[in-house]
Amino acid sequence: MNSTQCHINNLHFIFIPLMAPGHLLPMVDMAKLLARRKVKVTIITTPLNSIQFKSSIDREIQLGSQIQILHIKFPNVESGIPEGCESVDTLPSMDLMSNFYIALCKLKNPLENIFENLRPVPSCVISDKHISCVAEIAMKFKVPRIIFDGTNCFHLLCNHNLRNLKGSIPNEGKFVVPGMPDQIELRKCQLPGLFNPGENKKLNSFREEVREIEKYSYGIVVNSFEELEEEYVKEYKRVSGYKVWCVGPVSLCNNDKLDKVERGKKKINSNDESENKILNWLDLWPSNSVIYVCLGSLNRATPQQLKEVGLGLEATKRPFIWVLRGAYGKDEMDKWLIEEGFEERVKDRGFLIKGWAPQVLILSHKAIGVFLTHCGWNSTLEGICGGVPLVTFPMFAEQFYNEKVVVQVVKNGVSLGAQSAVHLGEEEKCVVVKKENVRDAIEKVMGEDEENEKIRESARKYGDLAKEALEEGGSSYHNMTQLIEDIMHVQGLC
Ligand code: UDP
Repeated sequence: MNSTQCHINNLHFIFIPLMAPGHLLPMVDMAKLLARRKVKVTIITTPLNSIQFKSSIDREIQLGSQIQILHIKFPNVESGIPEGCESVDTLPSMDLMSNFYIALCKLKNPLENIFENLRPVPSCVISDKHISCVAEIAMKFKVPRIIFDGTNCFHLLCNHNLRNLKGSIPNEGKFVVPGMPDQIELRKCQLPGLFNPGENKKLNSFREEVREIEKYSYGIVVNSFEELEEEYVKEYKRVSGYKVWCVGPVSLCNNDKLDKVERGKKKINSNDESENKILNWLDLWPSNSVIYVCLGSLNRATPQQLKEVGLGLEATKRPFIWVLRGAYGKDEMDKWLIEEGFEERVKDRGFLIKGWAPQVLILSHKAIGVFLTHCGWNSTLEGICGGVPLVTFPMFAEQFYNEKVVVQVVKNGVSLGAQSAVHLGEEEKCVVVKKENVRDAIEKVMGEDEENEKIRESARKYGDLAKEALEEGGSSYHNMTQLIEDIMHVQGLC
C-alpha cells in the first residue's frame, strides 16, 4: 500500500444515506471504517438525523479521522410531511411513504449546491440507491457513483433472477427461485413489494425509477462478508457484471462502548442510566440464557400480534429482553402489559424496553442466548456477529430472503413459520404467528439435543468469521482496500 498511501490523502468520499435507521446506521459505520483508512469523508444528512451519530463522529475525529458532517434541510413542508419528521421510522403513517420519496427527489438542488462547494473535490459518492437524484449530480460533477443497497448478495441475486422470470411467478404455492446456488423455495406473497406492487401508483413508479437508475452506477457496496454467502457473491457478480465490494459487517466498527450505547439513539443524554440498567440486568444471568427480541425500527406489528409474541416468551419460562416500539398501538399494549398483568407475571425474568434499544450493545453481552429477529438485514448480521442463534420472524421487504440466508445457507437459526409478508401499512390484516410458534422455535435453538447444538455451533463459527473478515488481512478489509485503490485509479491518483 505504500504507493497508495502517497496519494490517499487526496481522496474524498461523500456518503449520502437514506433517512431510515436500517440504511443510515450502516452507512455511517461504513463511513467511519473508510475514514480510518486515511480517506477524507463527508456525510451529508439532515440535522435531526445527524444527532444520532454526531458524538461518535466527534470521537473518530479525535482519534485522527478526517470526517465531517454537512447538513441539508429536509423538505418536509413542500412534500406534505409534518415538521420534525426527517426519517421513515418517525413518519406518523406509512401512507406518507410516497411523500417521503417526493421529498427525496427535492433534495437534488440543495445537494448540487453542496457539491459545488466541496473541497477537496469529491472523488467518489456512495449514496443509498433510493436517493436516485444523486445519479444526475454525480454525472454533472464527473464523480463515480457507488450505490448502497442495504442488503446482501443473496437478495441482489434473488431479485435479479426473479426479474428475469417476470410474469411467470406463480400466484399460489411455493416455487423454486431459478439460478440460486441452493434450492431456494419461496411463495409470491413472501416477496418484496417490487414483485407484489400495491395500489399506490406513485410508490410503484418510484420503485421502477430506482431500479432503472441503479443500472448506471459504478458499482455496489454491500454490508456482508464473503465467507457468509460466498457462492451468492460470486454468482451475483457473474450475472450482473457489476463491481461488488462486500465490506461488512460494518457494525463491528463500534468497538467503543459509547459507540454501542449511542448507536441510533435520537436523543443523546449523558445522564441516561438506561443502558447501565440493561447491562446490570444482563449480568445477573448465566451465559447464553437470555432471549433477545426486537422486530426492528419500522415494523408496526399490531397489539394482537405482539401479545402472541409476549405469551410465547412467557411460555418459555426463560429470561428475556423484549423491545417494543414506542408509539404504534401503545394504549392497547400498555393496557395489556400493565392492567392485564403481563409485566407483573414476568417481572422476575422479563426486561421490557419501550422505545429504542442499544441493540449492538445487548447482542455483544455473553448472557444473550438467542435473538428473535424480524430479519432486517442489519439485525440479522448483528445477530451473526454476536455469535448467537436466530429465531426468524420476517415481515416485509426482503426479510423472507434473509430468513433463507439464516435457515438454509448459514444454518444458524430456525423459522417461526411466518407464511406471508405483511407489507408496511397493511399490518391490521392478520396475526401471522401464534404463541406456540414462538415458544417452540425458541426451544428448538435453546434446548439440549444434538440438532440444536449444531445450530449453536454454526452461530459461533460465523460470529468468529465475521470478526475475522473485518480485521486487517480479512476479506472485507481487503475489499475496502480494493475499493480505495479502484477509485484512486479512476481519479488518476496512482
Ligand atoms: N436498532 C436498534 N435499536 C432498536 C431498533 C433497531 O439499535 O430498538 C437498529 C438495529 O441495530 C439495526 C437497525 O436499527 O442496525 C435496524 O435495521 P434492520 O435492517 O435490522 O431493520 P429495519 O429497522 O430497517 O426494518
